[in-house]
Amino acid sequence: MRKNIVAGNWKMNTLPEEGLELALSLIEQYKNENVQLIIAPPFTHLWEVSKVLEGTGIYLSSQNVAKEDMGAYTGEIAAEMLKEIGVQYAIIGHSERRAYYNENCQILAQKVNKALATKLNPIFCVGEKLEDRESNQHFELIKKQIEESLFHLSEEEIKNIVIAYEPVWAIGTGKTASSEQAQEMHAYIRQLLSEKYNNEIAENISILYGGSCKPSNAKELFQQKDIDGGLIGGAALKAEDFLAIADSF
Ligand code: PEP
Repeated sequence: MRKNIVAGNWKMNTLPEEGLELALSLIEQYKNENVQLIIAPPFTHLWEVSKVLEGTGIYLSSQNVAKEDMGAYTGEIAAEMLKEIGVQYAIIGHSERRAYYNENCQILAQKVNKALATKLNPIFCVGEKLEDRESNQHFELIKKQIEESLFHLSEEEIKNIVIAYEPVWAIGTGKTASSEQAQEMHAYIRQLLSEKYNNEIAENISILYGGSCKPSNAKELFQQKDIDGGLIGGAALKAEDFLAIADSF
């Protein structure tokens, strides 16, 4: 059975002390065992947050990871460093990284490999821009993103991936994909996984929806057959909203 997951991407928000407070208030109020919570604070917060999350059942993710091994790569953070301080997941391929830092499918495939080799579970993001959807290219584009960054993986490796479908036009815009649009794409992604691997693997991979998900729309989205939770941006910065989204299961 695949897991229900609600993951919070804090992006470049909160100072370390504020981040710690947010983590502590999640720990205090987290009661719903039907859903696995993951938080992805900025790099500067990870070690402190990791210490307070220990034994709480809330998991820790980075928002990015280097594609290289440790060494002379100024400004990068290696998977080994993250693993060592208790990080379990790494968001890879967020649309902001693709758009602002030119991370293409090949670079992202290397990041996925590095994370998996270090036993960090990738939360791999895919999503189309509005013009792709309007020109009816969205299925082809998502297929390309998945094929080029994930389909070199073995059956054993792909099982450790969480996929997040995040239509770029819905991220931080207040526009959510309708539950039908989201379900349609999630079912398509699962079908791709089933064709490439097998039905059992496809049925066990959690596929999250991301893009202006909030307490008022989470329930309807999470009721869809192929939507196994959310990757949450803005609403992850308030403990009450993030937990209300998790409680939509
Ligand atoms: C995100 O950036 O992953 C995201 C889903 O953001 P928001 O919830 O703010 O749209």
